Amino acid sequence: SALSSLRKWDDAQKEETYLSIPDPASALLASREYATHPHIAGSTEDFNDAKVILKLFEKHFGVQPTLDPPVFPAGSPESRAATLGINKLRRPKAWIDIYYPVMNTPLDRSLSILSADGQEVEWEADLVEDGDPRDPEAAEYRNAVPTFHGLSADGVAEGQLVYVNYGRKEDYDEVVAKGANLTGKIVLARYGENFRGLKIKRAEELGAAGVLIYSDPRDDGAVTVANGYEPYPAGPARNPTAVQRGSVQYLSLYPGDPTTPGLPAYANANRTEGENIPKIPSLPISWANAQRLLEEISGTDAQSALVLDGRASESKVKLVNHVNTRVMPIWNTMAAIPGHIKNETVIIGCHRDAWVMGAADPTSGTVSIHEVVKGFSSLLKSGWKPLRNVLFASWDAEEYGLIGSTEWAEDFPDWITDNVVTYINLDVSVSGSRWGARGSPSLAHLIRAAALDVPHPTDPTRTLWDAREDDGPFDGALDAEFEKTYAARVNESNVGKEEVGIPPLGSGSDFTPFLQRLGVASLDQGFGGTAHDAPYHYHSIYDSQRWQETYADPGFLRHVAVAKHLGLVALRLIDAIILPLNTTHYSLELDDYLANEPRAGRREEEAERKFKELLHKIPRWYVSVLGSEDSSRLPEWLRRLLEVVYGPLPKGPVRRFIKAAQRVQRANAKLVAFERGFISEEGIEGREWYRHLGVAPGKWLGYGATTLPSVTEALTFEKNATLAEQEASRVAALLDKLTETIKV
Ligand code: GLU
Ligand code: CA
Ligand code: ZN
Ligand code: ZN
Repeated sequence: SALSSLRKWDDAQKEETYLSIPDPASALLASREYATHPHIAGSTEDFNDAKVILKLFEKHFGVQPTLDPPVFPAGSPESRAATLGINKLRRPKAWIDIYYPVMNTPLDRSLSILSADGQEVEWEADLVEDGDPRDPEAAEYRNAVPTFHGLSADGVAEGQLVYVNYGRKEDYDEVVAKGANLTGKIVLARYGENFRGLKIKRAEELGAAGVLIYSDPRDDGAVTVANGYEPYPAGPARNPTAVQRGSVQYLSLYPGDPTTPGLPAYANANRTEGENIPKIPSLPISWANAQRLLEEISGTDAQSALVLDGRASESKVKLVNHVNTRVMPIWNTMAAIPGHIKNETVIIGCHRDAWVMGAADPTSGTVSIHEVVKGFSSLLKSGWKPLRNVLFASWDAEEYGLIGSTEWAEDFPDWITDNVVTYINLDVSVSGSRWGARGSPSLAHLIRAAALDVPHPTDPTRTLWDAREDDGPFDGALDAEFEKTYAARVNESNVGKEEVGIPPLGSGSDFTPFLQRLGVASLDQGFGGTAHDAPYHYHSIYDSQRWQETYADPGFLRHVAVAKHLGLVALRLIDAIILPLNTTHYSLELDDYLANEPRAGRREEEAERKFKELLHKIPRWYVSVLGSEDSSRLPEWLRRLLEVVYGPLPKGPVRRFIKAAQRVQRANAKLVAFERGFISEEGIEGREWYRHLGVAPGKWLGYGATTLPSVTEALTFEKNATLAEQEASRVAALLDKLTETIKV
């Protein structure tokens, strides 16, 4: 039986074996293999990489390779059988699913400043990255994926330039308040603070003709040319020609294939217009090109244009963005390892596609997963059989808008709802020196405990958990405004630091369909940059193997630390008899959500009253889950469960084992039901794809989380107390239902 075969495995010994496997030399080699060629979604290289990962799974999980690789069109009987068959699987299995989303690739693009009469071109941007030969792959592949915006609109726009700072909701509000009329204008925004697609969404709503987004050295912290650093590849500062490609999908409306919201993108799917993509053209540009445009706005130098006063340039700018938009194939590589319990699965996912080579994004994640796969392989070889099923996913087309993961989740929503206990995401595992994790509150303690058990990558006297406070090696002055927003960011990521310190997930990676549509508890982690790290050349040709080896992770010890942590978290979820989902902590965090929201805007009286009602529900709620703190007053069902787990195994007829196992499963089902309990079938008003009423990507943030989104946004954006009140009642009704579900 499941319980007795587990006994053969001492948990501490198993973890020790696992932790001995991830290895920096192996990670470095894997990175050199994966990150030294381009792999944009839908390309031949991308399909080859999908097969390389398939081989990796086959080799390490002991899957018998077949002559024809198992590559199945999504929706085919083979594809459906692969996922739905996980519940009956006897041996590990690996396969590739093909989905068919609409995506685009760049054709002609240009950007020019026109003469006063509009007849001549005064200046033309080059729109290319320099491909400095000191970084060999960057030089070789500088034109492999021309600089463009994924899912951008095809078109030509001509108009005066207006600078809008980061293009946040409040930036647009400010320029409009200062009298700017954006109709027919070309908006110039800098990267940072919010998701790039949302900079465009607001510009479009305000009537702009086109949008340009540039990388600003003010956001590079201490490591700038102004502070005396040489630009990459000569030194650590930003290469001034670097361009951040990236999707401009309206992520907070819905992610995935634009033409099949809520449904899987099969080859023959019925498709809609695609409401989550811009109607106006846009281009990403370098700091080198942006400087000339800023001079055009100020009439003098770039510096004096950076005032948010809404003024427009005298001359007009012409933006041309031609793209080839069409249905393209994408490939998710999957591998399932069957566990003793057939209807509980832990998913570990990381995307594989990159804008160009993506040594950090996402190859560093893929490399860490590579080490996890090797670690699990060695456990399997020494006789380990997981208690729960494990499903590995190498997602495709994350860069275009979380497409591979979203389409799969839209393909199997019922199976996921019924079977998946946790989703573990990895994307960029290393782009700098500071470690951080985000996740569902129920996973916070698990994440922290594992981080305390993993050694710090470079300092044996500390742990990975301490690396949350690490800083990069470079000194220098910070831009004053940057310092303020940076401090706010650091502060936010330290929310609750005294206690557990795991902030909620927003969006921008593949956990979104699992957590925010289906209510699967999820986590994400990795090392990111600080103000004193070499600036990360995100989505540029300079996110390269050389940059990774020189600046982000010399020695590859951080890749390994992430692999160790992720593997430990996964093993504890896979093999714990009672799932380590801490619902008490979830309740306490909710209390915080309520106390903190809304961060802006006025609360009208009625809304205030509803909030108080919600607040009162919280204590009642966790008492009903866990009983009181006094163990003698624990509910009977819980006490008996604990006896099953910690007491001696019951002797006697098998029926008793089965009964115990059933009781354990019922308890686990309740723990899993906790996150599911936030899912409302109707979804969030105005963006119904999102169904989690506890957390969503902020409507105007994208990457950032908004807790209790329907209530908060009714108050902050709609300023509508009646709506807020209705929304609060909806959340309250969900909490009531949840209380019923988890009660025994
Ligand atoms: N992670 C990618 C990005 O930030 C894609 C996010 C998305 O489109 O949802 O550009
Ligand atoms: Ca879809
Ligand atoms: Zn990524
Ligand atoms: Zn990316």
